[in-house]
Amino acid sequence: MEAFLGTREELPTSGLGGFAEHGNLAGVRHVLLVLSGKGGVGKSTITAELALALRHAGRKVGILDVDLCGPSVPRMLGAQGRAVHQCDGGWVPVFLDRDRSICLMSVGFLLENPAEAVVWRGPKKSALIKQFVSDVAWGELDFLLVDTPPGTSDEHLSALEALRPHGPLGAVVVTTPQAVAVGDVRRELTFCRKTGLRVLGVVENMSGFVCPHCAECSHVFSSGGGKELAQHAGVPFLGSVPLDPQLTRSLEEGGDFIQDFPKSPAFPALTSIAQHILEGHALSPPGGSSPLGPCTV
Ligand code: ADP
Repeated sequence: MEAFLGTREELPTSGLGGFAEHGNLAGVRHVLLVLSGKGGVGKSTITAELALALRHAGRKVGILDVDLCGPSVPRMLGAQGRAVHQCDGGWVPVFLDRDRSICLMSVGFLLENPAEAVVWRGPKKSALIKQFVSDVAWGELDFLLVDTPPGTSDEHLSALEALRPHGPLGAVVVTTPQAVAVGDVRRELTFCRKTGLRVLGVVENMSGFVCPHCAECSHVFSSGGGKELAQHAGVPFLGSVPLDPQLTRSLEEGGDFIQDFPKSPAFPALTSIAQHILEGHALSPPGGSSPLGPCTV
């Protein structure tokens, strides 16, 4: 399996500064924030794989990784160490394929050493996120998926503030099946309600393990928590993604899981979630609210 194509260019050495003053989201049709109550539930995984699934469904997709604590999307998509450079319109995102239908901008590209944690205080982080949102030259995109830090923080509010003027936003909320994770997600849904962010739906990740020999599914972390939560909150349930060693491997190798593993257990789950999102958006009136309805937590 091969990592995405791309040339390695010189890494930028300076910090942020000197960008275009105005936003670059005019050509972006839908912005989706991917949220989770806490780290490690697969938020970045779902962001990366949904982006791939939407791209393979013929859409132009961008990913904005503003997870300052752990910008892992570049590694997951084989783009670690790639350089971003500037054009008149701002930062040029890193394109992941030859036909330039999927691109990525990550805080990880701008850190001198991506392995080091960002230890800035809140206001500096928020300023970076705002600038980051407005200064990337995305061009025309069907979807921009935003991988946010876990939880609900100043950074989320900053991202929302910066993104909201550019059109309808939606949130995909990721949880694992256990009650503890589900409790964290309940707070995430409350955040969406309070900030007026429309919830496209809940994804239950790590939802059972399908034995590669007998195809039986063991519910390692219990099951059904995400669906119950979605029902209780009155938001759509988008689907369950099982634990899948081929997905782990693909993420480790920076490959294209959707292209490389169409027979794996996580494949139908991920493509069906992408389909739900496409159908939800196809029904949305331009610039209006979605028939999926608001979050009622
Ligand atoms: P988060 O962004 O919520 O912190 P990640 O997306 O980084 O979580 O996922 C944590 C780890 O779990 C990653 O190493 C990823 O490879 C693995 N992982 C996530 N979801 C799955 C899955 N459905 N099957 C197998 N491995 C997964």
